[in-house]
Amino acid sequence: MSAPVLYIVVPCYNEEAVLPVTSGMFLDKLRQLWTAGKISPESRVLFVNDGSRDGTWDIICGLARQDEHFLGIAQSRNRGHQNAVLAGLMEAMERCDITISIDCDGQDDLNAMDEMVDAYLDGCDIVYGVRSSRESDTFFKRATAQAFYKFLNAMGAEVVYNHADYRLMSARALREFAKFKEVNLYLRGMVPLVGFKSTCVYYERHERLAGESHYPLRKMIALAFDGVTSLSVKPIRFITLAGLIISLLSFLGIIWALITAFTGHSVAGWASTACIVCFIGGVQALFLGVIGEYVGKIYLEVKARPRYIIAERTWGTGGEAPHSTQENNTHA
Ligand code: UDP
Ligand code: MG
Repeated sequence: MSAPVLYIVVPCYNEEAVLPVTSGMFLDKLRQLWTAGKISPESRVLFVNDGSRDGTWDIICGLARQDEHFLGIAQSRNRGHQNAVLAGLMEAMERCDITISIDCDGQDDLNAMDEMVDAYLDGCDIVYGVRSSRESDTFFKRATAQAFYKFLNAMGAEVVYNHADYRLMSARALREFAKFKEVNLYLRGMVPLVGFKSTCVYYERHERLAGESHYPLRKMIALAFDGVTSLSVKPIRFITLAGLIISLLSFLGIIWALITAFTGHSVAGWASTACIVCFIGGVQALFLGVIGEYVGKIYLEVKARPRYIIAERTWGTGGEAPHSTQENNTHA
């Protein structure tokens, strides 16, 4: 068996501060792996520019001109991290045997790639990179991230604890993954559904080399919410159950009210009535909100908009042509 072709897929959004540093690190890792004979020298680093507003795309184009091992694609606009990773993976799928997706900020230890590739050579199709500690994160980020995973699992979304989107996937697993047509993307929750033999590789997470995190609390909460509502119907079941219990309690309340009325003990209970009305009103509004969230998701899925749109490719605009098929390059 000849050595597999590896594509490292790197989403980049406003990363001009780190890209010049980390791109060299990615290439060194690639070189190290192919010198060790684990991967083919045809392997590449594929950057996905996610509609950056700074000089990120220029840097990527420059890198692609300098070294044939760098490739880049640009999304037509900013679509978010998950869509950027998907665009890169789908683009890479037809050209390689394995992909590893990783952030471009140098937070994830590149040395874990050796173990990932070893696991692939041992027959795994999916290898999850898992952070063994979160010491480098701020206390706040750590606490919110822990709460995030606990919440997801409690809500029935199957996710690998402390795994973000640093992960090896074989082309075979990706071809199956491509059949998951949903528009609401939550990759780390969807990938385990693909199945195949998988394992975890543990690594220390570093601090961002430069620039700022694009995942403030607001986006974290949005991602958690997407994770739950894209993967699980548990919240709806919970609502149904709670609705049942509340109906039962209301029924008991009516009986109680009737009994007091008939036995002549009734008082002008305006306060209690008002409380109940408010409570039920509040609960209903909340529940409708959650159901509305699902209806909104269905709306998006039904529209089936494209999950990513590639506007440019480095190899279509003067960069080096990659080694394999060009068939999905028609609109470059
Ligand atoms: N990213 C992206 N599109 C976005 C936001 C982020 O492609 O809209 C990329 C970003 O360039 C980085 C990765 O996603 O490579 C993770 O982002 P970040 O490091 O800001 O998140 P954190 O590690 O703090 O969770
Ligand atoms: Mg980061």
